[in-house]
Amino acid sequence: MAVESNREIGQAGNASNRVPAVQLEGVTKRFADVTAVAGIDLEIADGEFFSMLGPSGSGKTTTLRMIAGFEEPTSGRILLHGRDITGVPPFDRDVNTVFQDYALFPHMSVADNVGYGLVVRKVARSERSRRVEEALRMVRLEDYGARRPSQLSGGQRQRVALARALVNRPRVLLLDEPLGALDLKLREEMQIELKAIQQQVGITFIYVTHDQEEALTMSDRLAVFNAGRIEQVGSPADVYEHPATTFVAGFVGTSNLLTGDVAVAVIGEPGVYTVRPEKIRIADVGTEPESDEASAVGRIRDVVYVGPDTRYIVALEVGGELVVTQQNLETSSMEALATQGRSVRLIWKRRHVLSLATSEK
Ligand code: ATP
Repeated sequence: MAVESNREIGQAGNASNRVPAVQLEGVTKRFADVTAVAGIDLEIADGEFFSMLGPSGSGKTTTLRMIAGFEEPTSGRILLHGRDITGVPPFDRDVNTVFQDYALFPHMSVADNVGYGLVVRKVARSERSRRVEEALRMVRLEDYGARRPSQLSGGQRQRVALARALVNRPRVLLLDEPLGALDLKLREEMQIELKAIQQQVGITFIYVTHDQEEALTMSDRLAVFNAGRIEQVGSPADVYEHPATTFVAGFVGTSNLLTGDVAVAVIGEPGVYTVRPEKIRIADVGTEPESDEASAVGRIRDVVYVGPDTRYIVALEVGGELVVTQQNLETSSMEALATQGRSVRLIWKRRHVLSLATSEK
């Protein structure tokens, strides 16, 4: 498959000595009395797949729109490849945006949709058709150029929208919940495909989503947004295994918080702690934990069978609840559901207990 040759392929792993693709310095955005983005600092490396993850209204889209140039920061600076672009209009920035609703022209063929931006920029016809072909090949739609958007599936339409952005060869591609309109199965397929395309073209992707699994699956690094601030930036493994705050622990995965008296009773010290559900095993009440393990006794309050896994919600004797997930390696749904109401001992390795900072908000 053809790869653009006039661009150095970005590798997030060794990008530290290069100029970042995007830098945000103390960026704030206010709309009347709403502070959508409250002073964020961020560096995104060239060639990185970077996600902005957070709940609705946390400021992700506003941040993306400021990078695109559709919104002006109230204060702070934005640099693209080292150049201050605060105040530069969108069309003079080396970025393209892919939106959730695709915004394809229904009366034009797929190829004409993809080539539209090149027509506007007066790129010669032969060059245009070469680049349209190349972009359609990248998204595996080389045989679909003559079709109308209405003759495509949702996933194919999303790929046309992507090709239309890639054809401009932007150095940075902004994607705002681009898979939001697709059903779960197609979403999962497209996640893998998007990541593969990004690795192939080496363009910096900045991806907005509120779906934690999506962010964990695709990103080299991600930023977790909460109420206009960034709570943590890190690799998916960092953010999942070492959440910096209570908010991050809850938003990325099941929080399983142990606080107050429960923390003192279970962990032995005051503080805020979490143990991920898949790190806990369920044993008989009489089981003795090993020396490197901790445990708590409780009663299985609820059982949720979800095919490959079962989630057990366990009310602890000392108060509070922990969720435990177990793979159904040998367990049938009947066996799993029959455990409801049973007294058990939950056991986990002490090293899997994470100590958390509490979020400001
Ligand atoms: P979502 O996932 O729902 O898109 P988000 O994290 O992208 O959410 P933003 O769209 O950036 O959040 O919005 C952040 C805050 O700023 C919200 O409280 C929102 O209502 C507010 N906001 C965004 N755009 C405007 C605007 N043009 N005028 C006024 N308030 C706005």
